[in-house]
Amino acid sequence: MTTLYRNARDWRDGAHVNFLVREGKIVQKSSNHIECDEVVDLNGKTVMPGIFDCHMHVLNAGLDLSALNLHDCNSRSEIEELVRERSAETPSGQWLLAVHYDANRFPDGRDVHAEELDEWTGGKPAILRQVSGHACIASATALKMAGITKSSIDPSGGRIVRGECGEPTGLLEENAMGLVYSASPKPTRERMIEAIRLAAESLKSYGITATCDMSTGQYNLADELAAYGSANVSTRIGLYILWSRVFEEDGTQRVFEFPESDRLRVSGIKLFADGALGSGTAAIYGEYETGGEGMLIYEPDDLKRRVKIASDAGFRVAVHAIGERAVDIVLDAFEATGIPESHRLEHAMILSDEQIERIRKLNVAITMQPEFLMEFGHAYTRRLGPERASKLKRIRSLVDAGVRVALSSDRPIVSGDPWKGIDAATNRPEGFDPSENVSHEQAIRLYTQSGAEIDGWEFGSLEVGQFADFIEVN
Ligand SMILES: [Zn+2]
Repeated sequence: MTTLYRNARDWRDGAHVNFLVREGKIVQKSSNHIECDEVVDLNGKTVMPGIFDCHMHVLNAGLDLSALNLHDCNSRSEIEELVRERSAETPSGQWLLAVHYDANRFPDGRDVHAEELDEWTGGKPAILRQVSGHACIASATALKMAGITKSSIDPSGGRIVRGECGEPTGLLEENAMGLVYSASPKPTRERMIEAIRLAAESLKSYGITATCDMSTGQYNLADELAAYGSANVSTRIGLYILWSRVFEEDGTQRVFEFPESDRLRVSGIKLFADGALGSGTAAIYGEYETGGEGMLIYEPDDLKRRVKIASDAGFRVAVHAIGERAVDIVLDAFEATGIPESHRLEHAMILSDEQIERIRKLNVAITMQPEFLMEFGHAYTRRLGPERASKLKRIRSLVDAGVRVALSSDRPIVSGDPWKGIDAATNRPEGFDPSENVSHEQAIRLYTQSGAEIDGWEFGSLEVGQFADFIEVN
């Protein structure tokens, strides 16, 4: 069975093109008619390859669509109002979960306190997740239910922020977040399926035909894999599974079952090297304007060991590193695998010229999220000062150096609208060095073909042999 998609225009030059498709793949491309079983007339519409958002969090994006969204709050009192409202609608015994909390937007930058939050919710357990996803505020009740007290010890790679007398303030950074999230009820498999379908619908509305979930296994790996299988959405999804869900501490690999298809696959393993800039936890050289130098999630040798284990087991390894101190450590780890070109460095927001040169030599792939510049400019400037902040995300320098780089969103940390991302990459917001802008055509290539090449997927440029994942753009 073949279908001819006739009378389309190419997004780059407007040329007429017909695509012959068999079993979802382009088997022939021509400006002339091609014999076929069935014809779909595109009536001169412009087509381009579907967007590949190669770094986002599919399940979380879906779950977040039903959490309280604090995105528009610029003060504690605005947050109080929304929390009180939602709390009134929340049955007792249930947790109030909010997302996109950002104290960087408050005039004084002071975080909500656990006791304050408790007062707003009338004692219902509540968590406000920081917009970066790397910190959260837990209410006093939530802290209690999670067993977090004055005498609790900080988990490795995390911090329980404390007041003058050592009592937890409610602010939990990095791995300390897990203490309170693991005490909150986990989504059921049915809830996950529903969330994945919601997310897929929303992705489709943006013209995204393929994506990667970068934190598979955060709730329960077996349930999540089964949910992705059952959700059976049209979006192609590659899963990056958290290292600790696939390997025991000593490196023994666990067995997991997985319903693989043309649209669903395990793409690799995910690890974190550091935190985020907005929470002042990304590992940088020098100090933040707000103090501290960020944190490493693992000792460098331990990270190297984990990356090597996953690489030796045949997985692509994607490592989150935002600060340039973390980037060096990740590059060392990738180099030690002997196949650095197989692996992905996620974010790499701060890069020196020397680091770009080293990335080129190692042929490591980078994914970047330009929409962050629009959303978090205020936080970056507050943490790094205007000078260092302006140099964040050196997309143009990477492209010019010949580094394999792909754009993506990291949704739900931001809206995930790729057209905003493309805008931010071509026209960096005020305060960000404009010499790092790329052209519109480059930005689209980085959001389609580049990611597909990096992850070895057959789509991204509408060539013969690829999946016919095109979208109409007019
Ligand atoms: Zn992410």
